[in-house]
Amino acid sequence: MIPAAFDYVRAESVDHAVSALAEHGDEAKVLAGGQSLLPLMRLRLAAPEVVVDVGRLADLRGVRDDGDALVIGALTTHHEVLADPLVRQHARLLTEVTATVADPAVRHRGTFGGSLAHADAAGDLPAAALVLDAEMVAHGPGGRRVIPAREFFVDYLETALSPDELLVEVRIPKLGAGWGFHYEKLHRVAQAWAIVGVAAALRRDNGSIAEARIGLTNMGRTPLRAGAVEQALAGSDASDDAALSQATDRAADGTTPPSDLSGQADYRQHIARVLTRRAVRHAAGLS
Ligand SMILES: Cc1cc2nc3c(=O)[nH]c(=O)nc-3n(C[C@H](O)[C@H](O)[C@H](O)COP(=O)(O)OP(=O)(O)OC[C@H]3O[C@@H](n4cnc5c(N)ncnc54)[C@H](O)[C@@H]3O)c2cc1C
Repeated sequence: MIPAAFDYVRAESVDHAVSALAEHGDEAKVLAGGQSLLPLMRLRLAAPEVVVDVGRLADLRGVRDDGDALVIGALTTHHEVLADPLVRQHARLLTEVTATVADPAVRHRGTFGGSLAHADAAGDLPAAALVLDAEMVAHGPGGRRVIPAREFFVDYLETALSPDELLVEVRIPKLGAGWGFHYEKLHRVAQAWAIVGVAAALRRDNGSIAEARIGLTNMGRTPLRAGAVEQALAGSDASDDAALSQATDRAADGTTPPSDLSGQADYRQHIARVLTRRAVRHAAGLS
């Protein structure tokens, strides 16, 4: 289908983008890589009156080392994140997760910030952002503010960004030695969208799990942390298979996954338990 008519603003700077957003409020939409917005517009599920294209803002692109954190520009493409040596070294979970996003064509245009701002419950990067305790840096008419990942994902396709704010960069605290990571995802063969995904980060200390962080993709209206599993794993012996199973059996506690053509809610809950067990074993270096 052809999108509804809209006005187009090509942003020349962050301030220009923000003032265009402030001027048009709810009627405006930011365009980054266009990999989610344009399909929605073509299906007429979105019909913004004004599209503010930030795609040429080069200063919002790239990864830099900021001491105890990596800073990833919102417009950094999935392909660039995947190829980045700093990300591989300090936030390897992102490398793993990004490798499962879509296909090379989408990864060359789609952006890291776009995936987070879009907040699709089936998107892979929001769960990773939760697990890594990422901080979203938003720029609005009043300047910058920082939004922790736990407060950023508000509802299905809804974030804490206000209509006149641009996500400009994301801070990812570095996790040092002792951490292991893994992302498990079940998806259809024909497309990479997660039916369920599980991102795991574990810190091991002398054979036991000192800290566990588990993020769930597509198990509710927002990405979730599997708090019951995290608590049950903390302090447990990583090689105690029974304890590990008992902990990961709690992966679906409190979740309300969707039922759709890819699977019913109870099926997704079963898959979440299976994938959590696999992800934890991988992250702990057991398989
Ligand atoms: C065929 C196909 C398969 C896909 N498969 C997967 C998959 O397996 N896993 C997955 O996670 N994703 C998948 N995607 C989505 C892809 O990852 C998109 O790149 C991503 O969701 C959005 O990034 P974008 O830069 O294209 O954003 P856009 O489409 O430009 O924007 C998406 C939304 O975010 C807002 N936005 C974008 N950037 C900003 C910003 N800086 N500040 C404020 N708001 C902003 C826009 O206004 C819009 O509402 C797929 C997409 C396609 C087309």
